Order: sequence, then structure tokens, then C-alpha cells
Amino acid sequence: MVVVLKPNTKQEQIENLKAWLESMDIATHISQGLNHTIIGLVGDTSAVDMDLIRALDIVENVQRIQEPFKNANRKFHNQDLVVDVGGVKIGGGNFQIIAGPCSVESEEQVCYIAECVKKSGAGLLRGGAFKPRTSPYSFQGLQGDGLKLLLEAKEKTGLPIVSEIMNALHIPMFADVDVIQVGARNMQNFELLKELGKLQKPILLKRGLANTIDELLMSAEYIMAGGNENVILCERGIRTFETRTRNTLDLSAIPVLKKLTHLPIIVDPSHAMGYSHLVKPMAMAATVAGADGLMIEVHNNPAKALCDGPQSLTPEAFDDVAKQIFKLRPFACTYNED
Ligand code: PEP
Ligand code: MN
Repeated sequence: MVVVLKPNTKQEQIENLKAWLESMDIATHISQGLNHTIIGLVGDTSAVDMDLIRALDIVENVQRIQEPFKNANRKFHNQDLVVDVGGVKIGGGNFQIIAGPCSVESEEQVCYIAECVKKSGAGLLRGGAFKPRTSPYSFQGLQGDGLKLLLEAKEKTGLPIVSEIMNALHIPMFADVDVIQVGARNMQNFELLKELGKLQKPILLKRGLANTIDELLMSAEYIMAGGNENVILCERGIRTFETRTRNTLDLSAIPVLKKLTHLPIIVDPSHAMGYSHLVKPMAMAATVAGADGLMIEVHNNPAKALCDGPQSLTPEAFDDVAKQIFKLRPFACTYNED
């Protein structure tokens, strides 16, 4: 980090700032220009509050040289992270499709969909038990019972399961869930992220509706700083001025994230697009762009789905998408192969 001081800053003020920075265990390096004095901060500056320094009277500008995320930073982890979900691997060249209903609705529904998506090649089953709905009057999910049904589907098919958590107090209920999902609306629920950081279970972290790539990485950092390194990132569309799609799928997040982090990146075209007929082209595009996996909503009867029916594929439509995806895999962009 570099701090540029205003011209005519007095020596005493420089010394005070230097002493304050050094009191935070940061070494300083001062270079005296013709007009400006520049202080270089050496060491781990991730805990330094840039805004606090910028607000000082004598400071003209502050710039970070290194990103404030360490655990999620590719610079410190050359190898792609491979998340191993009971033998099902994601990342580092391992590609997985996570498929299933938006919400678990009944035993027949989730078990039937699980059998179908497994036959089509999905590696993991998704299903929401706790649903973050915009309206409190909408179906909120079967909650604990939903998790039990998901576990039944896991037992029948052998597919590991992915389900969303909304409350840290529910963590014990997720003991047998293979991957805990943090939804877009909770990407910056920092207390929840801290609690998930104490687990040794893969976390699927979805990008918030209006969050930058850096903010997504800082949220991953919250989980990893607690000791849980198993984070999978998910691009699921961001909110823009466009109204023809539910969100705008930011596929550019894939190459950008691949450069910045070693964490696997999957794409959810279902929540990004909002309409089932738009899922296939974006699933294909995400695959070719080099995503480590996809998350796709599948429902046996989308017209009657209790949540997100319009964007859900029938098992037949999913089978067609999966076939295309597996055909495209050999053409996918690869990264960091030097
Ligand atoms: C979901 O995956 O069911 C979901 C609610 O997604 P998001 O958090 O991306 O809206
Ligand atoms: Mn959904």
C-alpha cells in the first residue's frame, strides 16, 4: 500500500503518521519527492483501513498494491483448488453439473428429479429447503423436513446434496448436507460467513445481486479466514437496467476470477436468466468460457412448481442441455496452464 502525502506536509506530521502505522506492525518506507512525500507500507496490510488513512488531513491519496484478500488469492495459491465432495470433484479441470429443483416439495418430487438428473450426468443434487423469498407470503420451503427428503434422495441415488442455509443457528441441521449454499441475498451476511468458516465442509458462495467481483472474493475470504478453505464461487447474474432477463449473467466474471483466485467457479444460468428457454445457450456459453461447473434448476412439472417454475427445465430438457454441455467440454477455455 502506498500513501501519498499532500505538498507542504510538516516533518512532524509525517513522523506521527509513521509512528501510528508502525504501531500496527507495519514497516514503512519513506521517499521524499520534489513536492510530495510518499510512504510505502510494507507487510500484511490487509487489516489496514484505507478509508481511515485517506480521511487524514495530510493525505492526498492511498493506493493498494496488493489485493486485500490473501486466502482466496491465486498469487499465494498457484494450484487450482479442487473441492472434493465425497469423491465428486469440482475445480482444477474437474467439471460438475449440480441440478435439481429450486425447492424440495415432496419425497416423490425430489427423488424422481434426482434419478432423472443423475441419469443425465449431474454429479450433485440441489434442492432448497430454506427459501429466501421476496414475499413473506410465498412458499418458504419445507425447511427441516425438506432437508430430510433431500437426504432420502441422496440415499437412493448416491448423489451428494447441495442446499441453502440462511441462518447460522441452522448449521447443526446441515450436518449431513454435503455442500452448504450461501445464496445471493446472504453473500454479505458476515456473521453467517464467519460461522461457516469454522466448518470443514464445502461452501457454495453465490454472488450477490448487486455485488462486485472483489466483494465476492472478500466474502470468500471471510469463510477462508476462519479455516474453511473449501469455497466454490457461483456467478448467478447481477441486477442491471435490463428487464428482459431476470438478471444479467456476467460471464466475464469467469476469466476475471480465474486470474484472481484459485477457487472453482460455477455458473447458475437458471437464476441469471429467469426463463427456461434461455438457460441452454447460457449454460453452453459458460461451459466454453471455462466454468468449473453449472447449477441448473430442474422440475418434473415446472408449471406447478412452488418456486421458480418459469426458469426450471423439465428432466427431458435438462437431458438435452447436459448432452450439449458434455460435448462442449473439450472446447472449454482453460486457464493458468503455464
Ligand atoms: C437458489 O439457488 O435457490 C437461489 C435462491 O439462488 P440465488 O441466491 O442465486 O437467488
Ligand atoms: Mn430458485
